[in-house]
Amino acid sequence: MKILIDNGHGVNTPGKCSPDGVFREYKYTREIAAAVVQHLQYRGFDAQLLTPEEYDVSLRERVNRVNTWCKKLGRKNVCLVSIHTNASGNGKEWMTARGWSCYTSRGQTAGDRLADCLYHAAELYLPGHKIRKDYSDGDPDWESDFYILKYSQCAAALSENLFHDNSDDCLFLESVEGRNAIVSLHVEGVVRYVRQWG
Ligand SMILES: [Zn+2]
Repeated sequence: MKILIDNGHGVNTPGKCSPDGVFREYKYTREIAAAVVQHLQYRGFDAQLLTPEEYDVSLRERVNRVNTWCKKLGRKNVCLVSIHTNASGNGKEWMTARGWSCYTSRGQTAGDRLADCLYHAAELYLPGHKIRKDYSDGDPDWESDFYILKYSQCAAALSENLFHDNSDDCLFLESVEGRNAIVSLHVEGVVRYVRQWG
């Protein structure tokens, strides 16, 4: 199974930072994604970054890279996790929304199985944190038309790792404990998926 780890946005993406400007989503998710890939490779899994660039890569190009792997290896032999942090406001003030969530494309797809595994890991690694779920379609993940989920041909999930415009979430994200938890939940979630469905 080829495991593709994507990190949101780029150094040139406007906004996407905490209200005090200290936390930047593009930077944080790159650091997390690099650590996730490193851990997976160390454990013998075929993992790699989808977008190693500092600058933003268009969604079209990201999907193109994913689907090139799908074409080469077969869509069942590829999975994608796109790592983001969430925000509920316009970036100018601290907000109250908190918690972890994961998105898939609409309908029942392999992405739902991947998201289930990530939810399982999130419950383990983020004790005491709000795990945001949407059971309206029978499973915990949220469904959306996010471009990268809709057009990637393989199992694809997008994680929103707490809110960078909530001061408590932000503090946790930047802590050593928080970073380890976010990395571990992706590593263990993906390992669970590959062992069950790979
Ligand atoms: Zn994002």
